[in-house]
Amino acid sequence: MYDLIIIGSGPAGLGAAVYGMRAGLNLLVLEKNPMSGGQVLNTYEVDNYLGLPGINGFDMGMKFREHAEKVGAEFKEAEVTEIEDKGAVKIVHTTEGSFEAKTLILAMGAQHAHLEVPGEEEFTGMGVSYCATCDGAFFKNKTVAVVGGGDVAVEDAIFLARACKKVYLIHRRDSLRAAKVLQDALMALPNVEVLWNRTVSEIYGGDMVEGLKLSDKESREETSLSVDGVFIAVGINPQTEICRELVTCDEGGYILAGEDTCTSAAGIFAAGDIRKKPMRQIITAVADGANAATAAAALVNGV
Ligand code: NDP
Repeated sequence: MYDLIIIGSGPAGLGAAVYGMRAGLNLLVLEKNPMSGGQVLNTYEVDNYLGLPGINGFDMGMKFREHAEKVGAEFKEAEVTEIEDKGAVKIVHTTEGSFEAKTLILAMGAQHAHLEVPGEEEFTGMGVSYCATCDGAFFKNKTVAVVGGGDVAVEDAIFLARACKKVYLIHRRDSLRAAKVLQDALMALPNVEVLWNRTVSEIYGGDMVEGLKLSDKESREETSLSVDGVFIAVGINPQTEICRELVTCDEGGYILAGEDTCTSAAGIFAAGDIRKKPMRQIITAVADGANAATAAAALVNGV
């Protein structure tokens, strides 16, 4: 039996692995994909992680993973299908068998939210994308739209503007939620145009995306916008389907846990984007991992 099982290998899970190993815990990290890093891997440039300004997201994910491996963390590629809480023993059932531990850290992170409009599903991979850094290169010298007003949408628009002829940023309100520094960088780009107070009502095309139907929130006017591709960056959904019966979640599915990462279930901790909290950043995910592993170690060692 392990002292600790960490589910997820994004910044929270890997941060927990480093702190857990250093606390002397016998631990296992379960990861759905062999590529550690979570959402960080899809980030072109991370400019707000202390000490690593301008680092590429993929490189950052690899650095985090190398660090956890260097301190001896054990990894297993497996998808968790069910978790049983038997009090002093937590049983994690996966596609690769079942594992037992005294404590558990839930660090499964979050995944892209969808617009849920006609054409979105049909054209996914045919001009609809959720990852500018993965798919942006296909749209060199083309016209694309980015939907959203948060950090990711603005970062994506800036990234795409480097290679695309024209980038429209479509936002449903008249002000952006993204960090001021990103907004300033965006507004300085000559080939970016922000379409305010607009929502996407349909994505249309033939074999590939050809355009968007937009609805003006104020005038209710419907217009069409010709684009070759659309990047959807309208937030994230917590990956809590497998643990909603196990720990208390809010109405959005985020796990209720404080800074100490303690959930409603003893010995089960929640770290990173999966936890209800005001700042979902890489640096706060890593901090959660450290807190969660320290709390798990205190429980295992009876401190
Ligand atoms: P956010 O939740 O911050 O922003 C989502 C945006 O999408 C908002 O502007 C929202 O509009 C808009 N939106 C939501 N639903 C719809 C819809 N149905 N139709 C149209 N627009 C919609 O998500 P992000 O993905 O940008 O960022 C996720 C988290 O990751 C954030 O906390 C962010 O700060 C963090 N992040 C951290 C980074 C780092 O640490 N370096 C880098 C990138 C992201 P409205 O504003 O009206 O709500």
